Amino acid sequence: MPRGKPSKGKCAYCGQEVTKGGVTKHLSACPKRQAIIEKAERTRDESETLYHLRVQDAWRSEFWLDLEVRGSATLKEVDGYLRAIWLECCGHLSRFSLGGWQGQEIPKRRRVEDVFQPGVALTHIYDFGTSSETLLKMMGTRQGRSTSSRPIALMARNLMPEANCRECEQPAAWLCLECLSEEEVWGTLCDGHARAHPHSNYGEPIPLVNSPRLGMCGYEGPAEPPY
Ligand SMILES: [Zn+2]
Ligand SMILES: [Zn+2]
Ligand SMILES: [Zn+2]
Ligand SMILES: [Zn+2]
Repeated sequence: MPRGKPSKGKCAYCGQEVTKGGVTKHLSACPKRQAIIEKAERTRDESETLYHLRVQDAWRSEFWLDLEVRGSATLKEVDGYLRAIWLECCGHLSRFSLGGWQGQEIPKRRRVEDVFQPGVALTHIYDFGTSSETLLKMMGTRQGRSTSSRPIALMARNLMPEANCRECEQPAAWLCLECLSEEEVWGTLCDGHARAHPHSNYGEPIPLVNSPRLGMCGYEGPAEPPY
């Protein structure tokens, strides 16, 4: 993505397009979200501290998620969510740490409320070989009843970054894994050039999906939230 162009995303409550920098402001004003929060407040669920976490790929910051996570949720539940929406290819090991790769490991049984504080950023590594590195940062908290019966609610997410065909510069929808592995080229292709593409050693070109792990260790998606 060219520098300086704001990364675009979408509010999960109202569907409005938001910039990455404008998410927090939008969420606090979003009428759909307010209505859902008010509805949750009328239930008998227990009130707790809810954490707004900004999750982003450490190297490709145009991939990001804004999550509202129960303070009582464990890091294992956060790990499970990240695997489902972005990462899972073949059941690799993962870990959380403070202070990057070399930092102190934080056990997955720990609860979000015991780990996150203002200014604390966690690194999540999935797969210690072809590793995906994700940063998690606390943006704020609120006291209340979760809008989801599950540990995590998706509040906003980046839109699929635009990609151009390596042959013709038209918008691309496909990725060739052979280009990536053998030529080390980000082999994105338009429909026409995907059909005509000569490579087949790694199978046909795969559809682009909204995940920073696409193509790594053969990851193909689906890059959908688990709930
Ligand atoms: Zn909204
Ligand atoms: Zn794998
Ligand atoms: Zn093309
Ligand atoms: Zn290719």
